[in-house]
Amino acid sequence: MTHFAIAIHGGAGTISRVALGPKQEADYLSALERAAYAGHHLLASGGSSLDAVTAAVLVLEDDPLFNAGHGAVFNASGEHELDAAIMDGNTLQAGCVAGLRRARNPVLVARAVMEKTPHVLLVAQAADAFAEAQGLNIVAPEYFHTENRRQAFTRMRERFNFGEATPLDDADRHGTVGAVALDAAGNLAAATSTGGYTHKMAGRVGDSPIIGAGTYADNATCAVSCTGDGEYFIRLAVAHEIASRMRYLKESLDDAARQVVREQLSRLGGSGGLLAIDGQGRIAMSFNTSGMYRAAIDVHGKFRVGIYAD
Ligand code: ASP
Repeated sequence: MTHFAIAIHGGAGTISRVALGPKQEADYLSALERAAYAGHHLLASGGSSLDAVTAAVLVLEDDPLFNAGHGAVFNASGEHELDAAIMDGNTLQAGCVAGLRRARNPVLVARAVMEKTPHVLLVAQAADAFAEAQGLNIVAPEYFHTENRRQAFTRMRERFNFGEATPLDDADRHGTVGAVALDAAGNLAAATSTGGYTHKMAGRVGDSPIIGAGTYADNATCAVSCTGDGEYFIRLAVAHEIASRMRYLKESLDDAARQVVREQLSRLGGSGGLLAIDGQGRIAMSFNTSGMYRAAIDVHGKFRVGIYAD
């Protein structure tokens, strides 16, 4: 048995076998595996949980299959605005960014905010300028465009223009990537990165970069990364709620995650899911949607990967 573990996700929503098809399904599974092992290799060589979650999220941000970094959704102005957060469960330090348009890897900007500034959250042009000043990779906005996301944007805009109430399928509409890890030193970390929602209002910020909503880590309880209807996750302070239930109600990680997703989130009408890990390396994966792209390597070195609820 090892003393480290990692879990990653690539978004939750209505995901159907038929719509995905075998080729795309295989692509997702192998991307999830690559991301999980990118973090796990670091943990196995004594790396920190912060480095592990950063490495895993980087793989997913660079993969056009996922709604983060390259492959992010279009907002209502036909642009990309990216949000990300990272949190260190040992020190409770955190770094977050919202509304990035030019920095290639939002998770690296969030990490720089945590490590190089006295602040927690930087937004918009100033956050991109900070990324540039830090020597991080800056790209043209077209870097984030992908054909699939453009088509989803066009479909969404048409529905919107014709006043159709039904939104796109979740899988078209949103998604997020995230990772949680425990390292051999006993430290927890979480990171989350997203493009938000297709056709979201320009300037809209979701739960991912809000500490306690979409991202949280505290060695005393757990590390959490969420995905789903951001507005609900913010209102319920989902990630912090799980930590609080563990701290005050002495619930297990699994019970706390299930209560928050299956009871509180569902009752309020929100959909989505999350990953969480505790100081023993126990992993919870909870979602109330038909699928969540996810993978984990536990303290026994056992790898598992999944997409659908069943
Ligand atoms: N939670 C993200 C947001 O609201 C979207 C998602 O995870 O699907 O920005």
